[in-house]
Amino acid sequence: GIVWYVAYEFDDRRGRPRTNQAEHAMDFSYTPEQEKFRAELRRWLEQNSAEAFGRKGEGLGGSTASLLDVRDDGRWNQLLDYHRRLYKAGYVALHWPKQWGGGGASMIDQAIYQDEVLRLALPLYGANQLAIDRIGPTIMHLGTEQQKQRYLLKMLTGEEIWCQGYSEPGAGSDLAALQTRAVLDGDTFVINGQKVWTSLAHRADWQVLLVRTDPAAPKHKGISYLLVDMHSPGITVRPLVQITGDAGFNEVFYDNVRVPKENLVGELNAGWQVSIATLMYERVSGGTRHPVERTIGELLELAKKVDFQGGPAWKHPYVRQKLAQFAIEARCLRLSRHRSLSAQLKGKVPGAESSFGKLFATELNLRAAMFADEMLGAFANVEGGSLGAIDGGRWMHRTLAARGLTIAAGSSEIQHNIIGERVLKLPRG
Ligand SMILES: Cc1cc2nc3c(=O)[nH]c(=O)nc-3n(C[C@H](O)[C@H](O)[C@H](O)COP(=O)(O)OP(=O)(O)OC[C@H]3O[C@@H](n4cnc5c(N)ncnc54)[C@H](O)[C@@H]3O)c2cc1C
Repeated sequence: GIVWYVAYEFDDRRGRPRTNQAEHAMDFSYTPEQEKFRAELRRWLEQNSAEAFGRKGEGLGGSTASLLDVRDDGRWNQLLDYHRRLYKAGYVALHWPKQWGGGGASMIDQAIYQDEVLRLALPLYGANQLAIDRIGPTIMHLGTEQQKQRYLLKMLTGEEIWCQGYSEPGAGSDLAALQTRAVLDGDTFVINGQKVWTSLAHRADWQVLLVRTDPAAPKHKGISYLLVDMHSPGITVRPLVQITGDAGFNEVFYDNVRVPKENLVGELNAGWQVSIATLMYERVSGGTRHPVERTIGELLELAKKVDFQGGPAWKHPYVRQKLAQFAIEARCLRLSRHRSLSAQLKGKVPGAESSFGKLFATELNLRAAMFADEMLGAFANVEGGSLGAIDGGRWMHRTLAARGLTIAAGSSEIQHNIIGERVLKLPRG
């Protein structure tokens, strides 16, 4: 509430929002050791991202989505190279406990890591985002000792890349309607069915897969959570091209795929609870991994170079108000991000409140990209590489990609429902 009324002004010379006393009062204060950590990390990130991706400070343009394009081996190999560097330097999973190869870092060090990585629009967890932000933590909390020993370290080293097989053609928001079947044959599950929208399936070595193991039980009670080798016979992966032109997700078909029983996480038919733990981690990540402040910074730069309604956009009161509002919201998001780290650090599975960050971050990201299109007018539609393209056509790509992020990990409508029912305790709609 109150934050919306905090006075915000722009410093015209530098084009950055000028903060006021009240806001400083809310800031973390950093110790000299933490400042040293930040400086070393910043140097490391700048140097290693430049070496891995070839362009200093440019990162990946705010999203790993286009890197995951199945058709571009070169970019994927750059991401793997960057991942291995992160692992060697000990930065790849600062939030994981040391016992499992993570950094066991304090909340403040994690906040510093997120801020510095997002400043350069780099991926938080290298090439293995899904493994490190949600699947590994799920196995850590709910897997067997043997599963922890077998899988966790290889997630960090990047030797095994993971994907997540939840959605099906008839089961998205209503995930518990899923139909992919697994039948026990001795000590082996035999799987038949189809998943869809599976990000990274074309690159993955392993997958977490939700399957129906008891079709007679109520729909939430007959589901199990399996770890599946993507190189198993009977798996077919077909890339899908998105509206951006990238092909980052896939259809996956299962034809008598055999999976050992020891790959079950949690109890048989109790996979729904395990899947929810993964989803909660995913939503935390959905609220943390978008470099929204950087995008807002780029919006400010854009406003300085284009005209809007017959004059410089930067001088137009409507544009200035919108930019100020975006800057405020992006700062609020960063502060909420810092706050949500503390729950994870206490070893808790994040709760329904993780929906807030996911909803707010992805909607802000979308509104910011759409506002760039509003400033650009007809130029918004000019693709990179074409005559008249502004900022290499990146805004159109961003607008198209941003819509998908409001759908992935549970659509905005679903997040509204969760916040309404489970956080605000409103009656069910
Ligand atoms: C970029 C991207 C990456 C993805 N990656 C993966 C992945 O790696 N693995 C995976 O398993 N899935 C993945 N998905 C799929 C994603 O989880 C689903 O798209 C999402 O859950 C929505 O399901 P759906 O597409 O079937 O839409 P539907 O569930 O059919 O929804 C259609 C529309 O109806 C609305 N709606 C549905 N139910 C309600 C309700 N109860 N109240 C109000 N509105 C409602 C939705 O908000 C939406 O607008 C990805 C999706 C995207 C866009």
